[in-house]
Amino acid sequence: MRTKVVAGNWKMNNDKKESKQLIKDLKKSIKKEKLKNTRVIVAPTFVNLSSSVKAAKKSKIEVVAQNMHQAKNGAYTGEISANMLKAIGIETVILGHSERRTYFNETDETLAAKVDAILENKLETIFCFGELLEDRKSDNHFAVVESQLKNALFHLEADAWKSIILAYEPVWAIGTGETASPEQAQEMHAFIRNIIEKQYNKEVADGVSILYGGSVKPANAEEIFSKPDVDGGLIGGAALKVEDFTAIIKAI
Ligand code: 13P
Repeated sequence: MRTKVVAGNWKMNNDKKESKQLIKDLKKSIKKEKLKNTRVIVAPTFVNLSSSVKAAKKSKIEVVAQNMHQAKNGAYTGEISANMLKAIGIETVILGHSERRTYFNETDETLAAKVDAILENKLETIFCFGELLEDRKSDNHFAVVESQLKNALFHLEADAWKSIILAYEPVWAIGTGETASPEQAQEMHAFIRNIIEKQYNKEVADGVSILYGGSVKPANAEEIFSKPDVDGGLIGGAALKVEDFTAIIKAI
């Protein structure tokens, strides 16, 4: 059975106090949940990772980073490396979010290098990708997603996929209030699993958790999560409110 994941990407929200408080509240609100085979993840900003790791101790909540530089160290002003994250207890890093691709010019090539650094450091990644609205309108969404995966991930050995969680986030659904329909999500997730099987094998394809991201809310989570190839969600706005995030966790 594939692991289910509900991850909250806090983006550039929550200061130190707010981060600690949200984790504290979340700890309380999910305490009684069984969460069998389900991971609960939050991704605060870099400066709040350390205190968030502490706040999440002795709970089911895992704290992960939103980004990472691929180099070990060196003259990269403003960047953070894998060993720096590991040193404060971070084991998982979100990579390739569309906001990083759009505003910070991250390309498939840079992301391939970042994924390599993840593996060299025995970390895990939640790897994000997804098409633009114009890609979907021109019926290019499958080709775009396939090339994103090919360019950034298909150089990996089969074994490396144990350290990869995929997050399909159609850019037109991020923060817009517009979600992919459960059918659109399922269709894309099945397509993704299929190309992974072709490139690798059924075991790799069946083993990888594929999350959906883009305006997941308490009202639509259950239906999206009910689809067979949707293994959870990467949540933005709704992860900032403990009631909403808890409801989404319960929906899984
Ligand atoms: P929203 O849930 O706010 O649409 O954001 C999704 C997202 O970008 C998660 O990484």
